[in-house]
Amino acid sequence: MPGSLSFMLWMVGILGWLTINLINIIPVVGNGNVGIYRFILLFQGLLPGSFLLFTLHFTGQKLWVRSWRQLFLFVFPLIIIYFGWTQPFTELLWDKFQVISPGVETYTYGWLYLFFWFYFYICLFISVFVFVKYMRIRGVFYQDQVRFILISALLPTISVAGSIFWPSPMMINHILPISFSGSGLLVVFGIYKYRLFDLSMITYHTLLENFRDGLIIFDQKSRLIFANLAAENLLNVDSKQQIGKHVNHFVSQDSVWFPVLIGEQSEAIILTETGEIHYEAEQIFLPIHNDLWKQKLIIIRDVTPAYEAEQAEKEARTIAENRAMELDVLRIIAEKLNRLVDFDRVTQDGLQEIISRLGARFGYIVLADKNYRPYLAGSYNLPVIAEAAFKKYTFCPTCKVFEKFMNGDYQEPVSFLPCAVLDEFSISYPGLISIPLRLAERQIGVLNLVMSPNAVFSGDEIRLLQTIGDQYSAAIERARLYEEAERMANLDPLTELYNRRYFFELAHLEFERACRYKHPISVIMLDIDLFKNVNDTYGHLVGDQVLRTIADRCQTVLRSSDKIGRYGGEEFVIILPETPIEMAEKTANRIRLVVSDRPILLENLKVAITVSLGVASMDADCNLTLEQVLDQADQALYRAKQSGRNRVHLWSDPYGMNGLFSKNKMDLL
Ligand code: GH3
Ligand code: MG
Ligand code: MG
Repeated sequence: MPGSLSFMLWMVGILGWLTINLINIIPVVGNGNVGIYRFILLFQGLLPGSFLLFTLHFTGQKLWVRSWRQLFLFVFPLIIIYFGWTQPFTELLWDKFQVISPGVETYTYGWLYLFFWFYFYICLFISVFVFVKYMRIRGVFYQDQVRFILISALLPTISVAGSIFWPSPMMINHILPISFSGSGLLVVFGIYKYRLFDLSMITYHTLLENFRDGLIIFDQKSRLIFANLAAENLLNVDSKQQIGKHVNHFVSQDSVWFPVLIGEQSEAIILTETGEIHYEAEQIFLPIHNDLWKQKLIIIRDVTPAYEAEQAEKEARTIAENRAMELDVLRIIAEKLNRLVDFDRVTQDGLQEIISRLGARFGYIVLADKNYRPYLAGSYNLPVIAEAAFKKYTFCPTCKVFEKFMNGDYQEPVSFLPCAVLDEFSISYPGLISIPLRLAERQIGVLNLVMSPNAVFSGDEIRLLQTIGDQYSAAIERARLYEEAERMANLDPLTELYNRRYFFELAHLEFERACRYKHPISVIMLDIDLFKNVNDTYGHLVGDQVLRTIADRCQTVLRSSDKIGRYGGEEFVIILPETPIEMAEKTANRIRLVVSDRPILLENLKVAITVSLGVASMDADCNLTLEQVLDQADQALYRAKQSGRNRVHLWSDPYGMNGLFSKNKMDLL
């Protein structure tokens, strides 16, 4: 039976009772006929059950309002009605009827009728009790409504109690129906004023009870007024037991909920087996009774999905930002390295770019030379003490770790001291990372970067460093190849002296400089004596080896600023900057001696060789061209040949004037 049906039955009962009572007052009808009472009984019988059912529905006592159980409430009234309507039993209800005037009768009550009133009273009393209890627990939200219904339940309860103790017709026939109608009117008024049935208290209550979020209400003194099921589960309390108690009483101060409940925190994290659950709390102050006192509603919401989504998004954003940053660093470094061709610039400027882009403190490159010995190929910001350690050795002493790098044992950056030199000096740098430099399968060295002391390298960073290392290796190799190609383009392949073209380039520059700074400059022309014989005697291969040996021997005599080139077949040319003719003559003689002093040893051959040299110079007054001086040196060489070979001749102007060298040469010829 739905709540509204019980309410309707209650109303029908009251109205029926009232109507028949009114009819009874009419003189013609109200003849004291027991039939009237029988009809009244019909309606009275409806009242206790319907009122109690209405109460139970309204307060949500679901257990008691299950369909068939409700009918129990009507069993006893039905028996009473049956007795009231059947002759032999009527006396059990009323006896000795006497009509005094219309609507005023006297009669005595049978015990069964009193029993009915007692039943009536019990039903009403239970209703009042249920309302009072309900008001204590839930009344906060619906105080006015519950109070209203309570009064409408109390009114007939009191009058029924009165009827039992003073069972007079006045009481039963007049006071009782009036009190019931009063109660009915109150409810009708309640429907109008509080919209009792639009959304009944129980609907509100069910809503709040089953709300997904935890709802807790405290009064101003932090005493619990209400907690819904979700809140009870969260706080692990039975709110019915804790109503009216201070928050300290049922939530431990160590609990994560305590600061939330006293309003100090707006979030809480609960650790469960499946992970963290994040809660967000909101405080709302509820003005009650025109702000005379306030209640605080705390809404606790599970925000884990939103929190997780936010975290995931943050993580994704960080990863994307890092990737973008890494790509940017890579791009900038690659651009810089691509512009560098010169080996020294790659090992200095390139390294500086890498160090500054990666935010390293300093760095150095250890490369392997031709003999796979490690050497410091470049550094940036190297601390003085480390620099001193490296300077102590031309090459790093044999270094086990370096060997491991060269063996390709480390395929990705590792974090330890890779150099025995620093180890020897007990120099250790936290945050050092060693990146193997490699080209395909070939190891070329190690790039050491010293990051901040507390640097931690994640997988992504290690990959980035290795990518930079690989780019750097490529740049180093490219610079090396470029320099090698350039060197080869300028050298004579047999003697590894400058070839004629490059020698002229250098010689022009030296002449320009000599003129600019007003320095003397000398030229030596060298021709191997009777070289044809060597070829003829030992063959061309031996001839080649002799040529190579003489070139090497010449270089041992020369300063680093002197430039020697292969002028033609077995003719060499040497330019000696800042050298006057006397000093050049000495050098020429030293060359002559270094060649002729001892024979050239070739496997089981001893080849004795001499050379002839011609020397010419330009004074500080810069009065000649390179070609003129070369020509003079050539003439002097010719003279040396003419006068017996294995000697040095200085050019001297046979006419005492410069510039007529061609004529001079002609004469000599
Ligand atoms: P002189 O003392 O007058 O200079 O006698 P010479 O035999 O050295 O003079 P000549 O100019 O007649 O001979 C030069 C020889 O040098 C001719 C050539 O076979 C040889 N020659 C030139 N270039 C090379 C070379 O690259 N390798 C070898 N094996 N021989 C060369
Ligand atoms: Mg010769
Ligand atoms: Mg020659």
